[in-house]
Amino acid sequence: MKLMFLGAPGAGKGTQAEIIADKYSIPTISTGAILREAMAAGTEMGVKAKSYCEAGKLVPDDVVIGIIKDRLAKDDCKGGFILDGFPRTVPQAEALDAMGIEMDHVISIEVDDESIVERMSGRRLCGKCGASYHTVYIPTKVAGICDKCGGELITRADDKPEVVKDRLATYHSQTEPLKDYYAAKGKLALVKGTDTIDAITAKISAVIDGI
Ligand code: AMP
Repeated sequence: MKLMFLGAPGAGKGTQAEIIADKYSIPTISTGAILREAMAAGTEMGVKAKSYCEAGKLVPDDVVIGIIKDRLAKDDCKGGFILDGFPRTVPQAEALDAMGIEMDHVISIEVDDESIVERMSGRRLCGKCGASYHTVYIPTKVAGICDKCGGELITRADDKPEVVKDRLATYHSQTEPLKDYYAAKGKLALVKGTDTIDAITAKISAVIDGI
C-alpha cells in the first residue's frame, strides 16, 4: 500500500498520516519531520536546510530526493508507506517515478487558505516524539504536555503567521501543480479537509479500500 498525502501546510496531512499509518500498519515518511530532526541534531543536512525551512521556502530538490531515496530503501517500507510532504515539486514527483515507485493512491486534503491561517496559529508539536496537536481541535489531556510520551509541546518556528503566508504561496505555485500531475495518471482523490478528523479519516479509508 503506497499512499501519498498532498495538501497545503496545515491541511491535516500529518494528523491523518499518523492515524492511517496505525490503521494499515505502514510507516509514515515525512520529509519535514526528517529535516526537523536533522536541524535539531545539527547535522550537515540540518544546517543546510535550516534557512529554507525557517523562511517557509522549499529545501532544494536534490536534498529531499536524497532523503527519500535513503528512507525508502529501509526494510520497514517493503510492505508500503505513506508519503507526507513529499513530493512538493514536479521534479520531486519525477524523481519518484524514476525510482520506479508507483503510488496506489494520491489523496489531496483540501482546505481553503483562510482556514489554514486560522488553524496554524493553534498548531503544536511534541518536541520529543513529534506528535501533532492543536490547542482547540486536538487538545492534550494536560495542557502543553504530549499525551503519547509526556514531552513538552512546542510551536514550530515556521508556523508564525508571516511565515505561513509564504508557505501558502509556495504551496500554490510549486506543489499544487502536482494535483494535475497525478490526476493525469488517474491516481488523484480529493478529500474535503474541513470536516471532523474522524470524518476525514473515514473518507480517506474509503478511497484506500476502493469503496
Ligand atoms: P512540513 O513539516 O511538511 O510542513 O515541512 C516543513 C518544511 O520542511 C517545509 O516548509 C520545507 O521548508 C521543508 N520541506 C519538507 N518537505 C519538503 C520537500 N518535499 N521539498 C522541499 N522542502 C521540504
